[in-house]
Amino acid sequence: MLRHNNTPIDTILIHCTATPPRREVTRKELDAWHRAARFEPYYDPALKKNVYAGYHLLVHLDGTYERLRPDEHRGQHCPQDNMNNRAVSICYVGGIDNNNKPCDTRTEAQKRTLLTLVRTMRGKYPNAQIIGHKDVKGLRKACPSFDAKSEYKDV
Ligand SMILES: [Zn+2]
Repeated sequence: MLRHNNTPIDTILIHCTATPPRREVTRKELDAWHRAARFEPYYDPALKKNVYAGYHLLVHLDGTYERLRPDEHRGQHCPQDNMNNRAVSICYVGGIDNNNKPCDTRTEAQKRTLLTLVRTMRGKYPNAQIIGHKDVKGLRKACPSFDAKSEYKDV
């Protein structure tokens, strides 16, 4: 689904999968989770099927990343404050410790990839704010388990 009324992208929003250290999450798994949560799908013309995974980009433990849907299509990751329409979303695999507590579990490779992706997005959307899910107005959340706002303040 295209962004409502071509809403301009004014936010780069960081998420985590809320999974424990060293636990990989595949695109297929994420897709199943978001399908079960009844997220609005994006029809991928190349794959010729619906993609339910609601983020734009997914960063794996080894630092590789996958594009899940194009920027032009709205994500399904944060309805609050119209973020599904306003934001491009980058999600890293991890974000909780083995006791289900919020924890910055990013590997060095993930940190490097996240920074590269944030820089690329900053280049595409020079006026966008860079924030974590927990910084969205009206939310009380730990995601993405680190302070994205201060970490990327100079990007
Ligand atoms: Zn999140």
